[in-house]
Amino acid sequence: MACPQCSSRDVFYSCKPECCFNHVCNSCYTTFELETTRIGEAHEEFPNPPEPDATNPTAPCARCGDCKVFAVSSPPDQKPVCVCVGCKALLTLSAVNVAKG
Ligand SMILES: [Zn+2]
Ligand SMILES: [Zn+2]
Repeated sequence: MACPQCSSRDVFYSCKPECCFNHVCNSCYTTFELETTRIGEAHEEFPNPPEPDATNPTAPCARCGDCKVFAVSSPPDQKPVCVCVGCKALLTLSAVNVAKG
């Protein structure tokens, strides 16, 4: 996930999923939340989703609310595509509530 302000990928997650999805950019200190939009269904199996790292950017699934969402592709000029481990929804990530640092 890249910073919506300066496109830096040095973004970390500063809170807990139980609380909020506030992320902070380490380059320009912009804060933002991540939101997912469901774009379809994952038909492939993803047998080994990476272990979630607590400081990695994360977002709740738009359908089931689970935050075990991992990126399957992130084209440089497009929104990253993610899959929900819980319900296999295909999702895109977007930044909301962007506050310049
Ligand atoms: Zn930034
Ligand atoms: Zn889900």
